[in-house]
Amino acid sequence: MSITVTTVARPDEAAADAARVVVLLKAGAGGLGPRGREVDDRAGGALSRALAAPRLKGEAGECVDVLSPVGLEARRVIVLDLGAAAALAPLAATLAGAALARRLEEEAEPAATLLFDSFDGSPVPPGEVLARLVLGMRLRNYRFHMMPRDETAPDLALTVVADALDAAALDRSAALAEGVTLARSLVNTPASHLHPDSFGAHLGPLRAAGITVEELERPDLERLGMGAVLAVGNGSVRPPRVFVLQYRGPGAEGAPLALVGKGICFDAGGLAIKTGPQMFTMKGDMAGAAAVAGTMLALAQRRAPVHVVGVLGVAENMLSGASYKPGDVVTTLSGRTVEVFDTDCEGRMVLADVLHYAATRFEPRAIVDLATLTYSVMRGLGHVFAGLFATDDALADGLLAAGERVGERFWRLPLDRAYDKALRSPIADLRQHGRDLEDGDAPMAAAFLRHFTEGRPWVHLDIAGKEMTDGDLPLARPGGVGFAVQLLEEWIDATAIAGRPEVTCQG
Ligand code: MN
Ligand code: MN
Repeated sequence: MSITVTTVARPDEAAADAARVVVLLKAGAGGLGPRGREVDDRAGGALSRALAAPRLKGEAGECVDVLSPVGLEARRVIVLDLGAAAALAPLAATLAGAALARRLEEEAEPAATLLFDSFDGSPVPPGEVLARLVLGMRLRNYRFHMMPRDETAPDLALTVVADALDAAALDRSAALAEGVTLARSLVNTPASHLHPDSFGAHLGPLRAAGITVEELERPDLERLGMGAVLAVGNGSVRPPRVFVLQYRGPGAEGAPLALVGKGICFDAGGLAIKTGPQMFTMKGDMAGAAAVAGTMLALAQRRAPVHVVGVLGVAENMLSGASYKPGDVVTTLSGRTVEVFDTDCEGRMVLADVLHYAATRFEPRAIVDLATLTYSVMRGLGHVFAGLFATDDALADGLLAAGERVGERFWRLPLDRAYDKALRSPIADLRQHGRDLEDGDAPMAAAFLRHFTEGRPWVHLDIAGKEMTDGDLPLARPGGVGFAVQLLEEWIDATAIAGRPEVTCQG
């Protein structure tokens, strides 16, 4: 399922299909724009009368259908409200676009013509409003299935009639939709199809977009000494991998930003096996790696002028005679030894090696890691926020603000040396987690990971529980959310952290 967008400058260039659906925009109480008023006039005021219905609130995303108005050839006119023009943020436009896509799908309309109006008093340029509207439509329209064809979901052809198009904004929005789509599909693909042996084949879109993809296999990991990745992956018949993704856009200077992702293709818990219900969603335990891949695709697809590397720790946490065991001492890539207690705490083990690898190989300006890491963060923050830990206030503030702008919200949690005391082991450099596993596990895991960041400015995003949704979200159906791709893309675009030459301030 996809949306094809054709943009034209004049209405008569749009397909003169008598049955077409016309979509008009309305800005809250400000009413219709110039194109909308023209259509309303031709329909003898039918739209204005429909829009005066008492139940309408004038909120962003509200759709009013006017069927076969006299004076128009259109079968249906949908008036999409963008809410008050003065409050029109990019996120409101994205959500309104998603609401429109939902309405068109409910009505099984295969094609629509959007007569795009801009509104006075909007803080967002019209080109950006249009780009975000289309982004919302694309994200809402995404669906995943493993059948070759879905007969019930035809593609939507959207023709946009607008005066001034912002090609760069539209390109960015299309690339971002592709990045979120890739991340969602990686999460949705079952572990029978997405596993360490096949993971590389799923990164084809990255290679096609000009990203260098390096696949480190077991002999490479052994030679490097990635003892933690090897320990976690040892219980599976499919050996673990580390993927290194590199993208340098035109004009990007200096050291890269490193994005590090937890890529556990299936987490059975290892010998500390999970219960059945806990395991149902564990194909999604690679959502951190998926977010890194999706973000890099979104950046490379539009040749963003940034320098970003991605390091993905990819393994299956399974049970066999070769599984790592509670009480084992594992030597990590950094040389530090870790005493293992709970084999289900495999994410922090894998991250220990890939964080150290990213920090020492690339000497990045900053590292951001993403992981579906702890139940603790879900208990503490619920469905609203994901957890953010940072060594650097500017990095934290930039990411928190970007998350608010795109609707992927994070709350900063403590990263403090005081937690280190609980990570002492009598026989190794570090315990794998605190003595009581669940109490404060999220900040304990962050404290553990900090030992492997080699002093680099670092942000740890614990996205557990955000990677999949059971119910409908405004922008996503049940399944993979593609969580944090929009956040990272927005943040990287707004700051100088990834070597973007023309941006000098932190966003
Ligand atoms: Mn686990
Ligand atoms: Mn896990």
